Amino acid sequence: MTASAFAATLYGPEDLRMVERPLGLLDPGMVRVRFGAGGICGSDMHYYRHARTGDFVVTSPLVLGHEVAGEIVEIGSGVTGLAAGDHVAVNPSRWCGTCVRCREGRENLCENIYFMGSASKTPHMQGGFASLFDATAAQCVKVPKELSFAAAALAEPLAVCLHAVARAGEMDGRRAILFGAGPIGLLTMLCAKLAGASEVAVVDIAAAPLAFAERLGADHVVDVSGGDEGLRDLSARRSFDVAFEVSGTPAGLASAIAGVRRGGTVVQIGNLAGGMLPVPANAVMSKELDLKGSFRFGAEYARAVSLIVSGGVDVMKLVTAERPLADAPEAFLLALDRSRSVKVVLTAS
Ligand SMILES: [Zn+2]
Ligand SMILES: [Zn+2]
Repeated sequence: MTASAFAATLYGPEDLRMVERPLGLLDPGMVRVRFGAGGICGSDMHYYRHARTGDFVVTSPLVLGHEVAGEIVEIGSGVTGLAAGDHVAVNPSRWCGTCVRCREGRENLCENIYFMGSASKTPHMQGGFASLFDATAAQCVKVPKELSFAAAALAEPLAVCLHAVARAGEMDGRRAILFGAGPIGLLTMLCAKLAGASEVAVVDIAAAPLAFAERLGADHVVDVSGGDEGLRDLSARRSFDVAFEVSGTPAGLASAIAGVRRGGTVVQIGNLAGGMLPVPANAVMSKELDLKGSFRFGAEYARAVSLIVSGGVDVMKLVTAERPLADAPEAFLLALDRSRSVKVVLTAS
């Protein structure tokens, strides 16, 4: 069947519109999903404000959204194991499965990857903030009907954080320090604890997210809005084995390099601006640091879904507001206000 959807479509900086989008016939191997819920991500907000994120530039209208879940309404030919009526968490990544990176198990680095709601490729792959959207069967992970769509949608950011912690290596009994207390920072904190971290410190420049981090179980919170004295003080008392940079700022990376112990590991998760950035790179050598990037996720997506279903991680603790998809433009403004919002989730109605 052909159909049409209403989709939160970005036309340029701060120009997000709900637009009708025709959907053609469903392709073989694909399923059509009715939107259940979608988390607004930091990268969605970057796109919203600047029509770009990092090195990815929006050059034609882009439907945002890559943290989505919903109900299957139609099955394309050749699809097995899924049926209309199934509730699914939708992995936004479409990996080729055959390139060198895929074959070595690093699917997030797939040379032919398509990622929903991303301008990394042209034409852009449209996102999931749409009342109906199509996905491959491989993208869909079935979830129990009792699970809220909002919780299922948050498998995506949880997978990002599971991957970041995996990149850090052994966490058991280690101390971690984390720069940036947004949703990814907070979920990384929970994942680090799940992996056995003995202590996690959280650093930010805003009071509200730090208070939230404390309620979620941060062992130390440090506000560096007035300078980094508190951070220097903490680093003098505590030796941090791993630093996670989640703020996506050169200052955050500089602090991560300064704050981690000699021989420690720094994981860059935050999406820094493209181009050259000033960072104290020599300390990577003199402290013999392992500086690692962490980009999206691979097999962690399925693990994230099972952790949410089993209650191993309560992602709903991060949700500060739910708004209908039709109100996406207003919901983005709310999400951008860090004094009021941690995670804003769009819902079907
Ligand atoms: Zn995201
Ligand atoms: Zn591949």
